[in-house]
Amino acid sequence: MAANVMEIYGSKVFNEHVMKERLPSATYKSLEKTLHKGAPLDIEVANVVASVMKRWAMELGATHYTHWFQPLTGITSEKHDGFVSPVGDGTAIMEFNGKELVRGEPDASSFPSGGLRATCEARGYTAWDPTSFAFVKDDVLCIPTAFVSYTGEALDKKTPLLRSMNALSNQAIRVLKLFGKDVDYVSTTVGPEQEYFLIKKEDYEARQDLILTGRTLFGAPSAKGQELEEHYFGVIRPEVSAFMKELDEELWKLGVPAKTKHNEVAPCQHELAPIFDTTNVAIDHNLLTMEMMKKLAPKYGLVCLQHEKPFEGVNGSGKHNNWSMSTTHENLLDPGDTPMENLQFLVFLAAVIKAVDEYADLLRTSVATPGNDHRLGANEAPPAIISIFVGEELEAVIDAIASDSPYAGPVKMKMDLGVDVLPKFSKDTTDRNRTSPFAFTGNKFEFRMPGSAENLSDCNTILNTAVAKELKGYADELEKADDFTSAAIALVKRTIRDHRRVIFNGNGYTAEWEEEAAKRGLPNKKNTPAALPALIEPKNIALMEDFGVLTKVEMESRYEVEMEHYSKIINIEALTMLEMARKQLLPAVNAYMSEVANTAASKLAVSESLSVRSETKALTRLSADADAMSDAVDELQAAVDAAKALSDESAKAVAFHDDVLPKMDALRAAADDAETICGEDYWPLPSYSKMLYYV
Ligand code: ADP
Ligand code: MG
Repeated sequence: MAANVMEIYGSKVFNEHVMKERLPSATYKSLEKTLHKGAPLDIEVANVVASVMKRWAMELGATHYTHWFQPLTGITSEKHDGFVSPVGDGTAIMEFNGKELVRGEPDASSFPSGGLRATCEARGYTAWDPTSFAFVKDDVLCIPTAFVSYTGEALDKKTPLLRSMNALSNQAIRVLKLFGKDVDYVSTTVGPEQEYFLIKKEDYEARQDLILTGRTLFGAPSAKGQELEEHYFGVIRPEVSAFMKELDEELWKLGVPAKTKHNEVAPCQHELAPIFDTTNVAIDHNLLTMEMMKKLAPKYGLVCLQHEKPFEGVNGSGKHNNWSMSTTHENLLDPGDTPMENLQFLVFLAAVIKAVDEYADLLRTSVATPGNDHRLGANEAPPAIISIFVGEELEAVIDAIASDSPYAGPVKMKMDLGVDVLPKFSKDTTDRNRTSPFAFTGNKFEFRMPGSAENLSDCNTILNTAVAKELKGYADELEKADDFTSAAIALVKRTIRDHRRVIFNGNGYTAEWEEEAAKRGLPNKKNTPAALPALIEPKNIALMEDFGVLTKVEMESRYEVEMEHYSKIINIEALTMLEMARKQLLPAVNAYMSEVANTAASKLAVSESLSVRSETKALTRLSADADAMSDAVDELQAAVDAAKALSDESAKAVAFHDDVLPKMDALRAAADDAETICGEDYWPLPSYSKMLYYV
C-alpha cells in the first residue's frame, strides 16, 4: 500500500509547524528569532521548549533523548539518557528541562581530538543547533548539536560548518547591500547525491574484508564488468525496490526530502538524491540517510556498502555536493534576467572562481580519505586536480569580459559588461561534462570529488569560508568606489583574468590535462598523505583564523586526526589481508594443489603413458602464485611493522602509503591470479561474479 506521503512527511520531526502549533506564542516568537536570525536563546524559553518537546516526543513513543553530534570521525554519535526520574515514593516522572535541551556533557574522552583535549579535561560539551530540527528515531528524541571543548575549541564537524555559514552570510550581505538589497541572512544550500552498493547479506558475511574494512581486499575481476552499461538507470530489482520504498518512507517521516532514486553505473550500485536544503540541515539529513540505508538493508537480505571503492574494476561511489548561495528570495548563482542581475551573478561567480583557485589545495584536503584515494584520478571520478567547468556558453561570456571583446552570443551587448543579458544556461549545455571536479550546472556548482562515505561538512566549511574571504575583499573594495557599477565590472574582469587558469572545460580524465594543469600551476596531490599538509599551510590557517572558523590549534588537531586516521585504516586493511591470506587463501590454494597433485599421481599409477599436462600446468602456476603470496605476506608484515614503529604521525601515514600499499597490491595480485585457477569449491570467498551478478 502506498504511504500517504503528505501525512507521514515530517511526522517524527519537531519542525516549525509543530512548534507553531504547540508552543505558547511568545515562546515561539523568541525561538523563531533564534532560528532565523541566530539570536541567543534564553533559559526560560528553553525550558518551555524542552517541556513541549518532551511531551511531543513521548506521544511518538520516545523514552530517551540524546544529543546527536558529529565528532571528528565524521559519523554521528549518540548517548541515550532516559526521561525517567524517580520521585522517592516508588513512582517516576518523565523529566527533560531547558538545560538538558541546550547543553549536554557526554564523557567524550574516547573521541579523536588530535591532542586538543588533554584527558584530564576530557569532558567536552554539546550545544543545541536549533536550526536543524529535533526528531524521534528508535524511541529516542534526537537533538542535533555541536560538540566543543570547555575552552571552546571545536571537537566536531558541525561547529566550524556553522561558523563558516555565518562568515559567508556576513560578507554576502555586504555585497548585496551594494546592489541595493537589504537582507538578513544569506544561506548556503546543499543537495548531496548519495551513491551506495547493495549486495546480498550472505555474500557480505562470507567476506572478512567486507566486514572489517567495507571493501574487497581480494577478488579477481568478473568476466563481465560494467562495459555493457546496462545497469545505469536500469530496472530496479524487486528486493532493492522494496528497500528503496521503505527507505523513502522512513526518511520522509524524518523530514528528509528524498526525491530521486535510480541504479548507478556499476552493477549493484544505486543513488539517492534529496531536494537541497540549508547546508547544516542537508548534512544532518545526509548522515541520517546513510544510517537508515545501513539499518534497513538487512531486512531485505541485503547489506549497504558506503565505502568509496568496494570492488576493483567497477566504479566506486561518490557523493556530489551541489552547492549554491541564496537569500529567502533568490539564488545568487542564478544569472537572472536583467543586466544588473547579471552583474550581481557575475560578482558572486567571480568570488567562487577566485576562492576555488586560491584555496584548491585546502579544498582538496576535504576529500582526502583512504577510501576516496581509489577514486580520484582513476577515470571514474574527477582527477585530484581541482578545476572549474563553466560550460561553453558561460566560458564565451567570461572570455569576452576578460578580453574586452564583444560577446558574440545571441544577444547584443549594451553595458560595458560585454553582454546585454546573459543567456539562461540550460542543463544541457552545463551538465555534459562529468569529468570535472567542480562544475557549474546552470544555477549551482556541483563539487564532484567527495567520496560516498564522507561527511560533507569539511568541504562546505572550506568552500564557504574561502568564498566569504573573496566576498569580503570585494565588499571592502566596492564600498569605497565612486561608481559602483563600473567598479564591479572592473573587479569581475580582473578576477577572471587573474584566475582564468582554474577554468577547464575539457576532459579531466586525460593525461594531457594533467600535463596542462601542471603548466598552469594547479596543484595535483594524488593521495591523502600528500594532500593533507595543506591543512597546516600558513595561508590556509590564516583564512580559517581570519573568519573565526578554525584556529591554528584546531587546524593542527584536524591534520593530526586525519593523518592518524589514514594510517589506522591502511593498517586494518593490511592486517585483514594478512589474516585472510594466511588462514583462508594459502590453505585453499594448498588444498587444491594437493587435489591436483593426487590426481596426477593416481593417473600415473594407472599408466605412465597418461598425460598429466593439465595438472602440471595448473600446479606450476598455482605453486608460483602460492610462493608469491607467501613472500608478499612476509614483506607486507615487515612493511606494516616498520610503518607502525614510526612515532611521527605524518611520517607514519606516508610510510603506510609509500611502503605498505604496494605490498598489499602485490599480495592481492598473486592471490587474484590463484583465484582464477583454483577450483571453485576450494576458494573460500564469494567471487566478484557471484556478488555482483548472481543477484
Ligand atoms: P543531477 O545532477 O543528478 O542531474 P539535479 O541537477 O536535478 O540532478 O540535482 C542534483 C541535486 O542538486 C539535487 O539534490 C538538487 O536538489 C540539488 N540542487 C538543485 N538546486 C540547488 C541549489 N540551488 N543549491 C544546492 N543544491 C541544489
Ligand atoms: Mg548531479
